[in-house]
Formats: sequence, C-alpha cells, structure tokens
Amino acid sequence: MREVVVGRLVLADGVVPGRIVVEDGWIAEVAAEPDAGPPAGAAARGSMGSAGRRDGGAGPIVAPGFVDVHVHGWGGHDATGDADALSGMARALLRRGVTSFLPTAPTLPEAEIPRFAERVRAWMPGAPADGAEPLGFNLEGPFLAPTRKGAHDPDLLRTPAGIDPTIVDASLDGLRVMTIAPELPGSLELIERFAAIGIAASLGHSAATFAEARAGYRAGGRTTTHIFNAMSGVDHRAPGLAVAALTDDDAYVELIADGHHVHPALWPLIRRAKPADRLLLVSDALPFAGMGDGRTRIGGLEVEVRDGRATLLGTETLAGSVIALDSAVRNMAREGTPLHAAVAAASANPAALLDAADRGAIEAGRRAHLVELDDDLRVCRVMRGTGWITVEG
Ligand SMILES: [Zn+2]
Repeated sequence: MREVVVGRLVLADGVVPGRIVVEDGWIAEVAAEPDAGPPAGAAARGSMGSAGRRDGGAGPIVAPGFVDVHVHGWGGHDATGDADALSGMARALLRRGVTSFLPTAPTLPEAEIPRFAERVRAWMPGAPADGAEPLGFNLEGPFLAPTRKGAHDPDLLRTPAGIDPTIVDASLDGLRVMTIAPELPGSLELIERFAAIGIAASLGHSAATFAEARAGYRAGGRTTTHIFNAMSGVDHRAPGLAVAALTDDDAYVELIADGHHVHPALWPLIRRAKPADRLLLVSDALPFAGMGDGRTRIGGLEVEVRDGRATLLGTETLAGSVIALDSAVRNMAREGTPLHAAVAAASANPAALLDAADRGAIEAGRRAHLVELDDDLRVCRVMRGTGWITVEG
C-alpha cells in the first residue's frame, strides 16, 4: 500500500515543505520541495513565530511520531493496571501524537515489580494497532534516595544491595530504562550490569554529590530522570547530579516541559549545556492526565490535580504531570526552541536512547510513524505505519 504525505516536514535540521512516500508502513522516500512553499529558513524558525506561522499552501506540519520513555498512564488508564488499562493508555497516547512509549511503574511493593513486568510482557504482542507501540517498560523505583523520594512511597524504597536479587532478575526481560540513585549501596554494580546488557540506567531521585553522580555516569549511567526534579539544583558550592548531568556530553537528560516542574527560564540553560541529541522530552504523566481537575492515586499515595498541576494531597510536592508530549513540544517551541529541535527531543533522541533506529525521524527506511500538526502545534492526525487516525477536536 502506497500513500503520499504532503506538508511542512520537520526534518533533523529544520522544517521544509516536501512530501513523504509511505509504502507498506515504511517511509520509502522523502523529497524536500522548497519551491512548494516559503523559504526553508522561514519555516525553520518554528511555527509559533510570525515568520513560519501563516505561510499558506505548504500544508500541515508533519513531524515524526513522538516517543515517550517516561509515562505512568493517560486518559484515566494506569500503566500498572491490567491489559485493558495498558491498551487504553496506548490508545489515549496515540491521539496525542505519541507513537511509541514505555509504560512506566512508580515504586511498587517488591513482589509487585516482577508482576508488572510480566503483565507488560504478556500484553505487548497483542497491543492495539491504533495505539502507541510499547517498546518495553520503565521502572522508576525502588532504588531511590529517601531524601529525594518525591511522590514515591518511602516505605517501599530499597537499595540494589538490599533487595532480593531474584526480584531484579525476574524483571529484566523487557526492561529498557530504570531510575537508580547512584549513591546507594550496590548502585554502581547494578549500573555496570545494566550497561552490559543494554538497559539504560537513568540517574535520578538522588542526593548524589557531584563526585557520586560522575561515578554513576562513568559506571555506565546513560540518562537522567527528570533533570532538576528530585535532585539538587545548580549550587555553585555543592554541585550534584544536575550539574554532572548537564556537563557530561554523553548523558541524556529528561525534561518535563510542562512549565511547573522546571521553570521555563531554565530551559535555555539546559539546551545550551546539552548536545542537541541528548535532550529527552518526557511527560512523566499520571494516569489522570487528560481527565481535567480532580483526585487520583498513584502508588498508594493520594494526588490532587488542579489547574494542570498535580501534587500529593495537602502538599506542594509535584506528583508527575498531566501533559503529553505534544504539549511539551508546543511549550518548548513557544519558549523559543526551534521546532525541529523540540521535535527531535520528543522523537529522534528518545528513539536513539532505546536503540530503536527503525523510528524517530522522517527518513527513508524508517517506520511511517507520523504526526500531523496545525499551525498552533495541535495534533490533527496520527499515522502508525498505515492510514491516518484523525484526532477529534
Ligand atoms: Zn515518573
């Protein structure tokens, strides 16, 4: 089956009018057609600016489908729930432009961790074709520092040295990313083990000093769980994990770009410090995302959502976000990030973290995972291989 997609294509280094030939679910050909629209430079400045906004005739913005490596649920569906919940989550995410994802568990009771892993593994082969595609799963906990636990249940925290090793062994198949505070007993050994078997250790929920954080990356830590959240900030006398993450060119960093978790004034600091291919937009979305204000539970703790902000009930502790990656891309573009860079942080970069070279960019030979956006960067249609799924209002 052959389809031709025309629009302003978000490519690796800019936005250009052009067309994509899709054959049997894969991108067969990408042709930039600069004559079909405004100069490439105008569109490349981002759709939110006046330059690229009303350029008529060139069609919608077409970006690679988003890849969310850190998401706890969406649309009322919980990643730690049953197969129906996982399917509901996948379908809700797809309608926000997310074509690949890792169902992510918060800190669970020890015995529940392998059960979560087994549920995701059993569900994956039959995951719905009209949902975001699961690429494995992510464990955020239990190896978190008690002083940087955030919205995780303190009674459930463990150290790599202190946990029953069969719990870890039974959870490895399908595990793609796991948060580890590098300063805990046994963490460096576990990070080394993960590096050797291709699991991305994500340093985070940590009170590490700069030296401890550096040791974590040196041991093989590949990425960083939501930079600035649940770790020290940029303290010029006592740098910690955030500074180590920002100054290590190999380390990926996750950013929750909802405007609540990290003030937008810090976003340019992150973008300037990190190589462009090392920034990951993640939603860290709660199961309640997309459901408006109200109350929910995550990992046994009660959470209140008000005005797009989710906190542990009665506290100011952020419990996660209620956005999806389309909002993160829109927020980044609005704050001055070039559109192609914001999109790469939500597609090519997380795909590269997962070694998923078959997706994440508009390039011949990759899967036709595409998202069509209007001039305000709202999702209009999504393609996961074949045929468009139209998103309602
Ligand atoms: Zn999380």
